[in-house]
Amino acid sequence: MTEHSSGWNHLRGIEPLSLCDWPGRTCCVFFLGGCNLHCPTCHNFDMAWNMERLPLLSRNDIKSFLRNRAQWLDGVTITGGEPTTVPGLGEILYEIKQVSELPIKMDSNGMKPEIIEDILQQGLADMFAVDVKGPYEKYPALTGQAVTAEAARKNMEKVFELAAANPQAFYFRLTTVPILTDEDVETAKGYLPDGFDLTIQNYIPPRREHAHADYEARRPVGDLVD
Ligand code: SF4
Repeated sequence: MTEHSSGWNHLRGIEPLSLCDWPGRTCCVFFLGGCNLHCPTCHNFDMAWNMERLPLLSRNDIKSFLRNRAQWLDGVTITGGEPTTVPGLGEILYEIKQVSELPIKMDSNGMKPEIIEDILQQGLADMFAVDVKGPYEKYPALTGQAVTAEAARKNMEKVFELAAANPQAFYFRLTTVPILTDEDVETAKGYLPDGFDLTIQNYIPPRREHAHADYEARRPVGDLVD
């Protein structure tokens, strides 16, 4: 399978070294283009919706990078976009693990719990960082009407079930976007299974119209070196 016909076609960005994407670990970050939501507060809109505007990274270059750098890293973060929307995600994770022998953390908006479950059961990722966007009734507004309150509840409750059964493999984050009140944050905290805390991330407004990636406020689509 060529990179143009597989999930590798979605690989549109890399950050070779991050100290903040996986708490307590030094990691590299791979960005997979494509998303099932349309959040008006998105900082990485091109990655989410217009990945063709971003350069395709070479699968061979990525593998070479991992071979050379794995010894200096504690893990690999897979983010997006939304990784669970990428066809062939398992193939990408498998190959990254084979080459690097590093643990993998995957970011997700939690709206495809069946994919998270599949990846978890296959041992293809070791940690899932799942966003809780707010109270379920605000999901339509928070996601550009991409998901109903009922669907958000159903999907997140499935993710919380997985987390309760595999507490070592999950943590949850909420970004305090402008439409959320303090009460909303407390409501979202109340959704979590026992023993979990909600990591609160301060919202930084995009510096540009949201139809374009805001690389200053989010992070750049890095060039691959060696
Ligand atoms: S904020 Fe995340 S979930 Fe929302 S559109 Fe952007 S990449 Fe997708």
